[in-house]
Amino acid sequence: MRTMQEGTALSISAKALVEKNATVKLLLVDDDQDNLLALQAILEPLQQELMLAQNGTDALRLCLEHDFAAILLDVRMPVMDGFETAEMIRARKKSLQTPILFLTAYRSDEQLFRGYNLGAVDFLFKPIVPEILQSKVNVFVELRRTEQLLRRKAEQLARAEQRFRAVLEAAPDAMMITNQAGIIELANSRADTLFGRSREALIGRDIHSLLPAWECPDEDLLLPGLPQPTPEQRLTAHRDDGSVFPAEITRNSFHTPDGLLITTAIRDATDQVDAETKIQKTNLELEKRVAERTAALRYSNEALRQFAWAASHDLQEPIRTVVTYSQWLAKIMNGNLGVRESKMLATIEQHASRLNQLLAALRQYIQVSDSGQHSRVSVDCNAIVKAAAWNLQGMIEENGASVECGTLPTIASLELPLVQLFQNLISNAIKYRSEVPPVIRISAEAGENCWVFSVQDNGIGIDPKYFDYIFGVFRRLHGAQKSGTGIGLAICRAAVERLGGRIWVESTPGSGSTFFVSLPL
Ligand code: ADP
Repeated sequence: MRTMQEGTALSISAKALVEKNATVKLLLVDDDQDNLLALQAILEPLQQELMLAQNGTDALRLCLEHDFAAILLDVRMPVMDGFETAEMIRARKKSLQTPILFLTAYRSDEQLFRGYNLGAVDFLFKPIVPEILQSKVNVFVELRRTEQLLRRKAEQLARAEQRFRAVLEAAPDAMMITNQAGIIELANSRADTLFGRSREALIGRDIHSLLPAWECPDEDLLLPGLPQPTPEQRLTAHRDDGSVFPAEITRNSFHTPDGLLITTAIRDATDQVDAETKIQKTNLELEKRVAERTAALRYSNEALRQFAWAASHDLQEPIRTVVTYSQWLAKIMNGNLGVRESKMLATIEQHASRLNQLLAALRQYIQVSDSGQHSRVSVDCNAIVKAAAWNLQGMIEENGASVECGTLPTIASLELPLVQLFQNLISNAIKYRSEVPPVIRISAEAGENCWVFSVQDNGIGIDPKYFDYIFGVFRRLHGAQKSGTGIGLAICRAAVERLGGRIWVESTPGSGSTFFVSLPL
């Protein structure tokens, strides 16, 4: 073993270091090397780092370089005795608090007095009893360990608080932490800026003076454990200068041993409120413009409808005159007309009555598409279909057709357009029949917020490319073979649209067609 006398401070690690952090340093000072070895042997079982010095000067140097949990100091040493060494150790700030245990062979009161005066924590009298030395030194080892542990914990706490503050500062909103009563305990710098108050001035204040409607979340509704956010709220925030601004706030509550803490994030919502007001204003203007346009459109539609109605009505008279005169002419000529002239007169008559038919259909179309407000009544669709079939009795019998009707619902609707709708669909199903007797099946199914009616036939069917086309005015696919005006399905569509519904067809040519009508509930 080397000693300080050889000029080097020697550090002796315990044989089995449990954990580097867990060991502490002890300084043993004695001019007698044998004593030093004996002390070392006694203290080695404590498994701490022992440092040895054989004089006061080396002891002082070691004290400068290391932080000792305790110093065992021999009182009687040449050149600088234990007391002088202790005095100098105490004079240094670093070792001011280091516990010193004096080792002495003499029990003199004067020595004791001097020693305690110099800050000795204990005296050990030679010959040293190993167990006593061990247990006394162990107290200081434990003390130092506890101190180290506490220091580490304090450092951890300081780091955690630093991180917490960094997070608080990095938050995009003003943040305030309050207790249950609303007293502000912590605030970030954005809170200063938002409320025009220093953070120090905010701390300790009641948050209600800034946000009068602020409420502490109901503690009974909070689950223990994780912080719980409450939904965003818009409150009026007050500054000390009397100004107010709209604030979006979210609160997060968490239980702590000191009670409930509430983090309130506050965001100035002035820009958002301005934008919302602008959007609302624009919406109102838009709605107003749409209403104006709709009214103008309704007016021009009504004007057009009235014109079409008047024209179709007024045209009837001249047509009737054409028919009457051509009939008179035939009568006056009393069989004196040639074959060619008779045919010409018949063609005039034919076209005039066709024109009349077209005008009648047009009037019907105008009538059905009348968008005027009529209050809906409860309509039994079974009765409607019955009425439509009744109107077509002759056609049904002539064609040997059968109309099969399932149970239909009662709906809030208008009677007239519905009768017109079913009448047109049934008559088309018969008119566009195939070789076999027509069978028409009518049923209804409940859809999503609507009733879907279907009128199925076993007629000639429709090419899919005409599925939309046939619903237009004067659109006909079989004009040459069947009489008609080409307005029947346009009337159906106008009637359905007037009732807020939709009409469409599905068909395979040669295998019949099914017309579907959906009407809102
Ligand atoms: P119109 O029957 O007077 O010609 P519609 O508007 O009622 O006029 O029908 C338009 C066209 O749609 C008809 O000319 C016909 O070609 C076709 N159509 C309508 N219903 C059926 C049907 N059930 N089966 C086959 N074709 C049909």
